[in-house]
Amino acid sequence: MLKRALLCLLALAFFSPAALPAAVGNGKASETVEIFSEASGKVETVPKIMKTDAEWKKILTPEQYQVMRSKGTDRAFSKQCAIPRSGKGIYQCAACGTDLFKYGNKFESGTGWPSFWNPVSEKNVVLKEDDAFGMHRVEVLCARCESHLGHIFDDGPPPTGKRFCINATALKLAEKL
Ligand SMILES: [Zn+2]
Repeated sequence: MLKRALLCLLALAFFSPAALPAAVGNGKASETVEIFSEASGKVETVPKIMKTDAEWKKILTPEQYQVMRSKGTDRAFSKQCAIPRSGKGIYQCAACGTDLFKYGNKFESGTGWPSFWNPVSEKNVVLKEDDAFGMHRVEVLCARCESHLGHIFDDGPPPTGKRFCINATALKLAEKL
């Protein structure tokens, strides 16, 4: 009799639906974000990429980690973006591969950092007030993995008048053939 009661209890513990969410995790893993995909031409709902500093250190080069996870900055004129041979390409987040800027929206700003007048979609970047170093600036982050990309300024060319000043270290080129 006691044995049967124990078995019943065990069965309840294993098969109770209430036990399932705890097994899936703390809910953070299911956080999603809407991202525009150049490949599909659509806005897609995808899981956010969230990692610990130790996990990012394993994936990124020391230089990428410094810029993207510690909000570092490439020295001006120290790094260039790869240029697509076909003349068409998308610069993606070096950490998670999210489409960020079209080669066609890149312009020569003379500042020593790659500059773009628009992202592929406003959904793909997050803008955040940044008062570090006694300056008021607006930081640009990847919307999917929240890696630091650079800053945005109001002295860009038409049609937006914006200058996305981005660290080349944070970008990788996906060439369109
Ligand atoms: Zn990213």
